[in-house]
Amino acid sequence: MSTPTAQADLLIAGAGAAGMMAALVAAHHGASVLLLERDPGGPSNLLVSGGLFPGAGTRFQAAAGIHDSAEQFAADVHVKAAGVVDPPVLAAIAAQGAPAVHFLADAVQMPIKLLDGLTAPGHSVPRLHATPGESGRELHRLLRAAVAACERIQLVGDAEVLELITETVPQAAGSGTSQTLPRVSGLQASIAGHLRDFGGRAVLLATGGFAANAALLGQFIPEMRDALHIGAGINDGRAITLGLALEAELAFMQGYQGQGHVNPPDGRTRLGMSLPPHGAFMVNREGLRFVAEDIGPSELAAFVLAQPGGVALEVFDARIHGLAITQGPYREAFESGHVIQADSPGELAQHFGIPQQAFENSFSRFTQAATTGSDPDWGRKRFGLPLRPPLYGAWVTGALAHTQGGLRVDANARVVRRDGSVIAGLYAAGGAAASISGLGGSGYLPGNGLAQSFGLAMLAARHAALRPTAQPLPPRSPPRV
Ligand SMILES: Cc1cc2nc3c(=O)[nH]c(=O)nc-3n(C[C@H](O)[C@H](O)[C@H](O)COP(=O)(O)OP(=O)(O)OC[C@H]3O[C@@H](n4cnc5c(N)ncnc54)[C@H](O)[C@@H]3O)c2cc1C
Repeated sequence: MSTPTAQADLLIAGAGAAGMMAALVAAHHGASVLLLERDPGGPSNLLVSGGLFPGAGTRFQAAAGIHDSAEQFAADVHVKAAGVVDPPVLAAIAAQGAPAVHFLADAVQMPIKLLDGLTAPGHSVPRLHATPGESGRELHRLLRAAVAACERIQLVGDAEVLELITETVPQAAGSGTSQTLPRVSGLQASIAGHLRDFGGRAVLLATGGFAANAALLGQFIPEMRDALHIGAGINDGRAITLGLALEAELAFMQGYQGQGHVNPPDGRTRLGMSLPPHGAFMVNREGLRFVAEDIGPSELAAFVLAQPGGVALEVFDARIHGLAITQGPYREAFESGHVIQADSPGELAQHFGIPQQAFENSFSRFTQAATTGSDPDWGRKRFGLPLRPPLYGAWVTGALAHTQGGLRVDANARVVRRDGSVIAGLYAAGGAAASISGLGGSGYLPGNGLAQSFGLAMLAARHAALRPTAQPLPPRSPPRV
């Protein structure tokens, strides 16, 4: 075995959502952290995300008069995933929602707000939180600033994690076996092309999912292998390869988040998931509705892709535009010219080249449904207010956002072997770890991505930092937004 050339309490592979959160929490508890990032200037799923993260039972909810609990949050996730979840892991993640929000607000001194006017599809109450600009770009920038300002965290750039380093540990006396098991004691990375070993008491894999790995997609999510992929970062499934070499078990590999509000043809912008809850509806190129638009952004993707040309027109009004413009993704779509305004339904249909009569019929039937609260055509349940001209519209398509399967972890984010034993010294969080979204694209509750990334990161960091080398850090001064 090669000699480690640098040591830290916790080694983290990947400086995205899970990696940065874990680094900050571990450092806060007194641990030294080496955070290795392959492409520090490049994109990550965190950066392109909507930056909305759930917390149940936060003081922001209490201030808005919203009653919520980790149990209610877990129940919502459970229902959405059709019961295909690991209950102890789900309970542990749901319980970390409010502490994660409070940690960011108090220890990291991030400006945090609750989106108190938005009950996202599948959530029983408003519980999505964000930084003021409601964007992953801003959240990414603030986390990077906090990491850079923390003396116990060293961010190593141009560092591609290639291998895990193990040492063998004899089985405890009385275990009835003479077998020795490997314990993870470090990792090997290519730093600007030079191989280097790092030693640590624990390693957290936070390198993201496998949405850009065609072979793994073909094996586990063949229906999305050829879909537009709007995630960023590397997403090559590296954590899966590293874990499998140590006999780790994979779980929920068929789970993914689709996105049914993505602007064609390149998917660089999207409208975000908040339009249907506020009252938007959709028609296909023939001017016909085809779905209960409030089912949720993930499963909506497949319905949109099944329409002629794989596209739909999302229709809303000035009120909804005014609500959505606070959110980063919608703002970017609007500013890049995807959203068109028209004075009447007929004018909107004409602009987008869809049959005018059919669209006007759909508009009037949808208005009736929104007014009466009953949708005999598609069974929609939430309507917002009926739409009023001037109308707004934009083409959308369906896409793959990110995968939800990965290394099976326990309720402390420790990676688990196929025989059920824990791999000592190895943790996983974010896209690297199995999530809480069941199978297929319909089990993803909005916010599951960051809920799991932040939740497992908090659990891993605290568990791994139980023997810190230093005292907890004092509170930071607020970062500039
Ligand atoms: C379009 C889109 C919108 C989303 N919106 C939301 C939302 O509003 N709310 C929500 O909860 N979730 C959202 N998500 C999901 C959320 O972004 C992810 O769940 C979360 O970012 C996953 O965190 P992560 O740390 O695993 O991955 P990332 O944030 O992608 O970070 C992984 C990091 O690891 C680095 N890396 C990869 N391989 C290596 C290697 N071998 N060595 C070193 N570094 C490596 C990458 O460069 C990257 O920086 C969205 C995702 C997408 C794609």
